[in-house]
Amino acid sequence: MRILVTGGAGFIGGEVVRKLLASEGTSVVNVDKLTYAGNLESLSSCKTHPLYYFEQVDICERDALAKVFERHRPSLVIHLAAESHVDRSIQNPENFVKTNILGTFNLLDIANQYWTRLKKEQTTRFRFIHVSTDEVLGDSKESCDSLPKTVPYFNPSSPYAASKASSDHLVLAWHKTYGFPAVVTRCSNNFGPFQFPEKFIPHMILNALFGKKLPIYGDGQHIRDWLYVEDHVQALLKIVKNGTIGETYNISGCNRLKNIDLAYKICGILEDLAPNKPIGVKHYRDLVSFVDDRLGHDRSYSLDAEKITKELGWRPSYSLDSGLRKTVDWYLNNRRWWQQTMSLGYGLERLGLHG
Ligand code: NAD
Repeated sequence: MRILVTGGAGFIGGEVVRKLLASEGTSVVNVDKLTYAGNLESLSSCKTHPLYYFEQVDICERDALAKVFERHRPSLVIHLAAESHVDRSIQNPENFVKTNILGTFNLLDIANQYWTRLKKEQTTRFRFIHVSTDEVLGDSKESCDSLPKTVPYFNPSSPYAASKASSDHLVLAWHKTYGFPAVVTRCSNNFGPFQFPEKFIPHMILNALFGKKLPIYGDGQHIRDWLYVEDHVQALLKIVKNGTIGETYNISGCNRLKNIDLAYKICGILEDLAPNKPIGVKHYRDLVSFVDDRLGHDRSYSLDAEKITKELGWRPSYSLDSGLRKTVDWYLNNRRWWQQTMSLGYGLERLGLHG
């Protein structure tokens, strides 16, 4: 099996690549433009693997992408390449429209033409897994248990969410119109090792280690649903194996928590694992500070993951607490990775205050 992964140098894509290469006989082609969010250091354990190939290609570049398909002849595609940070989408939405919408269109169109030319047996096996997010559904007042069982409608708020919703529509249309063997997945907020420091959890950890304020947007009562990245990837692997074409699978561990409570949880773990604090810091939680809210900030997200649990037997292995502890520990023990990442131009500053 040869799997083409887009965005494999990113946070979730990197975990996908590492996990796929760990299963015997699977070959992986990682297609990544290497934006600020892509980091090949995250794949240092894979670089000499005989079945790993890297192609530095922008999914918006049609000819280069088509050549990758011809050169590697994949039997399956997992599409993760995207601009992924809501704050950056508020500041510079154009990149989101380009990569998430036009890039996905390019990839779909090329993959569809490639698929129609495959031999019968390969045509039947081919799949296109499109990795999306709970943010396409917009604000949800429900708790996980009380969600309606009907298919929720799209109601994106940020430019990021709107661009991802557009890409979901394109993928589903390609399935309906051309019979293209696509599957859509929607996952809640991920966290874990190798996540770029602009995202909430590493942002809190690193600010605390530098003795900087821990910025909480608005009143801190916004609820997010958190899943450890390895659990997300295990769900994707189940879908690769047994997912039904044309379906949309929600992936969530139903770990819903207010941002302020999550920040305090991280501080508690740091007290334990990093008791030697920066000068002037008595307790990490004293660094918590409320700042202006994000524009268009959704109050809450929730997903009903019953389908993937019932049909494919997926369940998360990590609780929020166990995943969080592992994550904090990883950032404490992998300073070189985040120091190198930050040396390329991100200094934990606030993004997305205006367009
Ligand atoms: P990330 O920002 O860490 O990584 C994105 C990767 O895509 C980077 O390696 C980047 O270089 C690459 N990329 C960006 N533009 C590209 C282009 N034009 N051509 C080729 N490569 C390009 O993102 P992530 O957090 O790993 O998210 C991966 C996917 O999962 C995204 O589609 C995102 O929408 C989705 N998702 C993320 C989360 C989350 O909490 N992080 C939750 C649900 C779904």
